Amino acid sequence: MAAEGAATGTAADPLIELSDVNKHYGSLHVLRDINLTVGRGEVVVVIGPSGSGKSTLCRAINRLETIESGTIKVDRQPLPEEGRALAKLRSDVGMVFQSFNLFPHMTVLENVALAPTRVRGRKKEDAEQRARELLGRVGLADQAVKYPAQLSGGQQQRVAIARALAMDPKVMLFDEPTSALDPEMINEVLEVMRQLAGEGMTMVVVTHEMGFARASAHRVVFMDSGRIVEDRTPEEFFTAPESDRAKDFLSKIL
Ligand code: ADP
Ligand code: MG
Repeated sequence: MAAEGAATGTAADPLIELSDVNKHYGSLHVLRDINLTVGRGEVVVVIGPSGSGKSTLCRAINRLETIESGTIKVDRQPLPEEGRALAKLRSDVGMVFQSFNLFPHMTVLENVALAPTRVRGRKKEDAEQRARELLGRVGLADQAVKYPAQLSGGQQQRVAIARALAMDPKVMLFDEPTSALDPEMINEVLEVMRQLAGEGMTMVVVTHEMGFARASAHRVVFMDSGRIVEDRTPEEFFTAPESDRAKDFLSKIL
């Protein structure tokens, strides 16, 4: 099992390190002895059945959830508990969810420029300039003055990605970013993610898009019942999954 000790060749420059992380919701043990290291520039796809703890794992890295035991470090620093340090962590760890959560009363440009002015203290003009650049990168340069409701789901999700990138995050977490989208919009979002991966962004991506995992992931982590059951290259994982649970899961989704 590659998961044990997470000796996956990324130890040289680890950006995210989880050691023996445990969490319960009441009597439900949602994260069990999680050991996971994500190296700088690495793209890790997390897959597994519904309820296996994938979202909780992502949320714990951003400290949207607390853990009961173990340690989580981002860029070698233990997660801060509160205050400015926590706000800094949240901007260093960009997060994109299944639901886009854009502010409906603000334009696309304002959505992307808001946090850099509020949290990073950038000047409005500078933040808007950068927001325009980022909107160009996600293919939405011409949508800057629209409101979220005027955009398709795929466009809104690309705005959400631009908004996270505006904070110059060290790592991007994606939690099923295409699950709420109509099929014809999935690819435009995956394309932006593929491009980010190609540029060397460190990414943790919860997705069932196996094409993305094969093309862009350095590693696939398979979770089941709160445990990391496999942690391997996509090639190894898809051609020869070790565990019965992974085999069973793959037979259902492929
Ligand atoms: P996944 O993202 O893999 O579907 P989650 O991390 O969302 O799994 O959830 C793991 C388990 O924890 C599930 O059984 C879910 O019902 C439960 N759970 C998630 N969030 C909460 C919560 N806030 N309170 C209680 N149980 C929760
Ligand atoms: Mg989830």
